[in-house]
Amino acid sequence: DGDEQVDEIHRLDEATIERIAAGEVVERPASAVKELVENSLDADASRVRVVVEAGGTDGIRVTDDGRGMSAEAVERAVEKHTTSKIADIDDLEAGVGSLGFRGEALAAIGAVSRLTIRTKPRGANRGTELRMAGGEIESVKPAGCPEGTTVEVDDLFYNVPARRKYLKQDATEFTHVNRVATGYALSNPEVALALEHDGREVFSTTGQGSLEATVLAVYGRDVATAMLPIGARAESGADDADEAAIEAGGPLDELSGIVSHPETTRASPEYCSVFVNGRYVSATAVRDAIVAAYGSQLAPDRYPFAVLFLSLPADQIDVNVHPRKREVRFADEAGVRDQVRTAVESALMREGVVRSGAPRG
Ligand code: ADP
Ligand code: MG
Repeated sequence: DGDEQVDEIHRLDEATIERIAAGEVVERPASAVKELVENSLDADASRVRVVVEAGGTDGIRVTDDGRGMSAEAVERAVEKHTTSKIADIDDLEAGVGSLGFRGEALAAIGAVSRLTIRTKPRGANRGTELRMAGGEIESVKPAGCPEGTTVEVDDLFYNVPARRKYLKQDATEFTHVNRVATGYALSNPEVALALEHDGREVFSTTGQGSLEATVLAVYGRDVATAMLPIGARAESGADDADEAAIEAGGPLDELSGIVSHPETTRASPEYCSVFVNGRYVSATAVRDAIVAAYGSQLAPDRYPFAVLFLSLPADQIDVNVHPRKREVRFADEAGVRDQVRTAVESALMREGVVRSGAPRG
C-alpha cells in the first residue's frame, strides 16, 4: 500500500503540525534551557538556577526570582503566539530590549514534553501551578510557592519518538546545555546563575557584577588568574590607556572583555565566547581575529579563553533571527577583524606576552 500513499497529498492533522513546528524551536535540551533562561532574564530575575538530569534528556528545571505570573497570565503564556514583550511587527523590528520575543517558546516546549510551571508574582500572596502534557493543559491550581517562576520540563520529546531517538549521548547534550548556561552567566554578571547536572553543582556565579568573578566561577581559578583585560575595560584602570583603547574609524563602537595568557588554552575554540550587542553569538571572523592576535605564541590547534563584548550599530550586523542560528555576520567584516585583532594584540603586548612585530605563525 506504499504505492497508493505516494500519490495522495493529504493535510496533516493539527497535533502533527504543532509537533513539527515545536521541533523547530526545541531541537534538543539545550534549546529549551536557552528559552527558559531568556525568559527568566526577561522577567528581571537576579537569581536563576538551572538543574538538568542526564544532559537534560531526563529533566530540566529552571527556577528564577523574577516577576512571576498571575494565574491568568500563566494560562495565556503557554498558548501559541502569546507574549507580553511585543505587540506588533514594529516592536519586533525595533529589536526590543528583551531577549525572547517570538511568543512561542513555552507553547513549543509544552507541545513536546510534560511541562509544569509554578509561579507567583512579586508581592502576591498565592501562586499558581500549571501542568500540561503534549500541548494540552491538564490542570491549573493555586499553589504555595516562592515569588518567581519555576519551569519544569520532563520527558522531552516523549511524544516525538523520532526526535527523542535523535538525541545524542547525555554527555554531549550536557555539553550544549553547559555552553548555553555559561554564555548567559558570562554576559549577565549581575545575575547569580547556577547550573546543576545530575545532582552536582557545575558552577554558580555570585551575581556581583564583575566579569572576572564570573570567569572564576565558571572556568575556575587557573583560568581566571590567566586572564588579561582588553579594550575599554583596560582603559579605565591601565596607565597606558591609549594603547588599550580600540582603534578609531572601524565599525565597532566599543570592545571590552578578557583574553587568556597564551599558555592557558584548550583544544577547542568553544572557550572563545563572543557577545554582539549583548547577544551570545557565534562569529567566526571574531574568533579568527582573536587567534591571529596571538600569532606564533599559540601552539597549533590550541585556542585561548576569551570573553569579548562587541557593540556596533545595528545596521552593521546581519543577525539571522532564527532561534537556532547563532552565526552573525558583519557588514564590514575586515574592519571588525582589524579592531578585534589590534585590541587583543595590545592587551597581550601590555602584559609582555606578545611583542610588537613578533613573527606570526
Ligand atoms: P516570549 O518570551 O517570546 O514572550 P514565551 O513563550 O517564551 O514567549 O513566554 C510567553 C510569556 O510568558 C512571556 O512573554 C512572559 O510574559 C511569560 N513568561 C515566560 N516565562 C516567564 C518567567 N520565567 N517569569 C515571568 N514571566 C514569564
Ligand atoms: Mg521567551
